[in-house]
Amino acid sequence: MPKSFDKGFRWVTDPSVQVEDTPETSQESQEPETSQESDAAPKGPVQGTGMPADQGTVAAWRPARSEPVINFVDSLIATAVNEGASDIHIEPREKELHVRLRIDGVLFKKPAPPIKMHPAVISRLKILANLDISERRLPQDGRIRANVSGKQIDLRISMLPISHGEKCVIRVLDSHAISVGLDQLGMSPGTFEAFRSEILQPHGIVLVTGPTGSGKSTTLYSALQVMDGATLNICTVEDPVEYDLASINQVQVHESIGMTFAAALRSLLRQDPDTIMVGEIRDEETARVAVQAALTGHMVLSTLHTNDAPSSITRLVDIGIEPYLISAAVNGALAQRLLRRICENCKEPMTTVPESTAVYLEKHNVEPRQLYCGTGCEVCRHTGYKGRIGIYELLVLNEELRDIITHNPSLGDLKAASKKQGMHTLRDDGLQKAFQGHTTVEELIRITES
Ligand SMILES: [Zn+2]
Repeated sequence: MPKSFDKGFRWVTDPSVQVEDTPETSQESQEPETSQESDAAPKGPVQGTGMPADQGTVAAWRPARSEPVINFVDSLIATAVNEGASDIHIEPREKELHVRLRIDGVLFKKPAPPIKMHPAVISRLKILANLDISERRLPQDGRIRANVSGKQIDLRISMLPISHGEKCVIRVLDSHAISVGLDQLGMSPGTFEAFRSEILQPHGIVLVTGPTGSGKSTTLYSALQVMDGATLNICTVEDPVEYDLASINQVQVHESIGMTFAAALRSLLRQDPDTIMVGEIRDEETARVAVQAALTGHMVLSTLHTNDAPSSITRLVDIGIEPYLISAAVNGALAQRLLRRICENCKEPMTTVPESTAVYLEKHNVEPRQLYCGTGCEVCRHTGYKGRIGIYELLVLNEELRDIITHNPSLGDLKAASKKQGMHTLRDDGLQKAFQGHTTVEELIRITES
């Protein structure tokens, strides 16, 4: 796997490789390529879905089809997929090009080709994604389907003009990564059982909350897989539909033509649904339809952007839903974050804890216990971490909490009541996972205290 990357990069320092003129200078003299020439062009493992452009109906600059450029793009995508990156950043600076991969939530710099190669790399990606290669002043979005090591990978491309050219960010949508069983997300046995029981209720709303990148979608998809698609009508409203799910009806939101979350949700209710997954509740209209759906006998799963589970209740009040409706409709809320896992290959018991860890434990009155860390090795790129584990805070609404919510409590009161009813906070779960040797307190601080 790093092999293909190395191979793709040999040319960067190889003086025998000539980089052709940048598109700016060669554009006018360049004829549109015929499909015959296109066929003769070197082809890597990455093939675009944008077939018309790839076959020459759109003029393509020759530099974008030069072997080094194709090799670079192919090997970059292959490396990203093989190293489990979620995003690829190609960033033009004044004098150099930066290439970074986001792995386990953190950006890592990678070797990059010379800046003069940048326009050709961008053109190559635009051709693959069937975007307009002559448009360099407006943002563009597209998709590429790639075949990497026999795996079908979808890539979402975002082009944004910045000071020194177009910045490209590629989101890697690995459908294998989302087909994770609910029991493999890292929930403690108690949380797992309680969450599973909530989503299998015949009706109600279950919310998953957390900031962007906290793994909410994966949890929702895992939850849908627990349900029986053969006997239930399971529908989703998403923006965008990123992954294709078997035996589930997925609806794409198109705000520009009036197909909003709320409009799609209303139509879905006329489609005899059992379970509805709404990508996100961010306005009163969507929240209101979701509540009505739950109160009329449907199970609704959705996400909110709040920091903790009790806040999802007060957020719904802020959006404009009456507390008595929330109390009646919502079954529970799960707050979550993703923490990096300690690399199993270099994990060791800590002999001394970092000062910030000691301060954190003392601040929260936690008795110090044995902690672990990764010392760094080849496997984890010398970070001490490999992969991620979720930490969870599940609020289940029992009769007492429903009664309290009806009286529109302050967030502080609701938090206190939730803890009194036995809710374990994100911190409790994170500390437990640190003491179990899955992650570190440093990581818990980094993710939850920032
Ligand atoms: Zn390691």
